Amino acid sequence: MNDRTKSFTGTKTSAYSPQISGDTPVQYVKGVGPARARILERLGINTVEDILFYFPWRYEDRRHLKKINSLAYGSLQTTLCEVASANIITTPRKKMKILELAVADETGFLKARWFNQPYLKKYFKKGQKIILSGVVKGNPYNGIGPEMDNPDFELLSEDDRLVHTSRIVPVYRAAEGISPKQLRTLMFNTSSTYSFLLEDYLPGYIRERNNLMPLSRAVREAHFPEECSDVSALNKGISPAHRRLVFDEFFLLELGLALLKKRETFERGISFTDRGVLASRFLQGLPFELTGAQKRVVAQIREDMQRPVPMNRLVHGDVGCGKTVVALVSMLIAVENGYQACLMAPTELLAEQHFINIHRMVEALGLKVALLTSGTKERLVDDISSGTVQIVVGTHALIQERVRFRNLGLAIIDEQHRFGVLQRATLRSKGFNPDILVMTATPIPRTLAMTLYGDLDVSIIDELPAGRRPVITKVFFPSQKDMIYSLIKAELSKGRQVYIVYPLIEESERLDLKSAMEGAEAFRRIFSDRRTGLVHGRMRHDEREAVMAQFKAGDIDILVATTVIEVGIDVPNASLMLIVHAERFGLAQLHQLRGRIGRGSYDSYCLLMAYPPFSEEARRRLRAMESTSDGFRIAEEDLAIRGPGDFFGTRQSGIPELKMANIIRDMELLESARREAFDLIDAEPDLAGHPLLKETLLKRWRGRLELVKS
Ligand code: ADP
Ligand code: MG
Repeated sequence: MNDRTKSFTGTKTSAYSPQISGDTPVQYVKGVGPARARILERLGINTVEDILFYFPWRYEDRRHLKKINSLAYGSLQTTLCEVASANIITTPRKKMKILELAVADETGFLKARWFNQPYLKKYFKKGQKIILSGVVKGNPYNGIGPEMDNPDFELLSEDDRLVHTSRIVPVYRAAEGISPKQLRTLMFNTSSTYSFLLEDYLPGYIRERNNLMPLSRAVREAHFPEECSDVSALNKGISPAHRRLVFDEFFLLELGLALLKKRETFERGISFTDRGVLASRFLQGLPFELTGAQKRVVAQIREDMQRPVPMNRLVHGDVGCGKTVVALVSMLIAVENGYQACLMAPTELLAEQHFINIHRMVEALGLKVALLTSGTKERLVDDISSGTVQIVVGTHALIQERVRFRNLGLAIIDEQHRFGVLQRATLRSKGFNPDILVMTATPIPRTLAMTLYGDLDVSIIDELPAGRRPVITKVFFPSQKDMIYSLIKAELSKGRQVYIVYPLIEESERLDLKSAMEGAEAFRRIFSDRRTGLVHGRMRHDEREAVMAQFKAGDIDILVATTVIEVGIDVPNASLMLIVHAERFGLAQLHQLRGRIGRGSYDSYCLLMAYPPFSEEARRRLRAMESTSDGFRIAEEDLAIRGPGDFFGTRQSGIPELKMANIIRDMELLESARREAFDLIDAEPDLAGHPLLKETLLKRWRGRLELVKS
């Protein structure tokens, strides 16, 4: 038996094809073949196991199909009948082709219509059995019998009955070349033939403790539920079968994270000594004292850095809470020990801003700071490898092949949500087990943090510097432009500065630029006695930097910008922000933007200009902005509005994808899966007693656990 078949037991064999294992290419499954295999590939199905784990997205209750005379008007209904006639009608004026199908059962007639799909006619032969599923229209009191527009349909042959009717049937997302019904047939054959080969890798006690059904049964029932199942639970994804599959996704994810965390604590890192001379000198030079929360987090970092194992810490804190200072103190500890430190930011603009700030702050200490982006000259790269530069601030360019450090001791990643486990690993490999500090300005709900940063220790800066005033936020409509202008005028006359933000229109960067440029023109006209500047993503970065510097110095009153200012800009004198087309922005982004104001001790205003009509979701986002400025509440609300989706970008973050699980709906399962996973790794870090589980784990992480380790 080759190793790859191990997750399917070698002792049980299929009565149909003894050689088939989970890794067998799908084309060898009965009824597939090379052509269909290529179609399935488009659905991400390559192997037998992939088929078994390709689950329906909904279920239809066909246990008791309704007769035509008992269909409920106005709701989605499914009925089994026979084709009586099919005719194509061309409308006289618009020349639209309508296919009209009359179907019947022993209780009456039903009319179904499809628009501009005349080719469907060939399917409908008189006497053909057909299942129709659609919203029932018509009005029995006016003599208009039941009708369906564009219903889903499936043609049945005599021997189809068992799979496609008289039961709860699964509905799969189809692809070109394979219909939902064909997929259902394929799934029926595959799951009944092969699902019992799935060997349960979950330790029995975990299964029992969490009340989970065996794997093979869960897989079978998620495809073809038992007669007595609760259809609404199935459709909500909370049936017992779903619970088991969801638990597994979480468990394998958390197990990997637990393993990563464990391994790191076994590794030797740098044990910094903290004389604290540089850091104290730096802190004494600051015009303010650290907040209690900053002090607490600095202390946690100090302690981590002194320990002989590599630090892996996440610093979590709302916009404006002062993470940069905390990062700097940590870098100074590394530098004082003769090591280099780097800070990686997600955008060039943010890297520039960090560079400018950090440069200014540590200049007095006689340290050399460098900015590294993709365009950085070789000479500077050499300065980094020779160790002439102690602190490097940069973008993704930091993890380029050509960048080598002499002795990287601390790597800081700002705005972590845009980077992933893998980038963290690559950055780590730039030194010999350097300490890693991750800073995130986007507060995320605890459950999410737990999942995404499950391998990190977490510190929270939950206090804003004293004297900050809450930002007054209000939604305005285009008809209220005059009111907006007078509010802007009032702030400007107090000597304050103003941001005007235009959205990024994704389809067209040029359009986006155009609206910002036109906006700048308009503001120049309206506020002709003020100085207006413009920054956008298409500018050369020295030009952009020049405008930003002018704004910071107070030489520009009104800064018109695209979303490039989302993060990291720090101008305490700016007290008003107008966000144009606020309805187009995501909630997290609006919050980030708003974080640019309210940094001084003045009352600040965030004006959200929204252009109706907009969606209910947009309305909720705007309302959330008006009602709270607490980043954590914003994050929870964002998650509630958006749904989990790919909220935390698993695809780019390098952790296994969650297909069945929904972190909101399944929060409790996530918590228990996490507990079980961490307990298991604590007791058995090498999983020696669970070879099958270990193998499944490595497979699910697709070798990424190995990469992260190195
Ligand atoms: P963020 O956490 O959003 O990155 P920053 O580090 O950019 O926040 O800090 C925001 C602003 O607050 C900066 O102007 C910074 O100098 C200032 N700041 C940081 N810590 C304090 C403090 N303890 N007291 C007063 N101002 C502070
Ligand atoms: Mg910051």
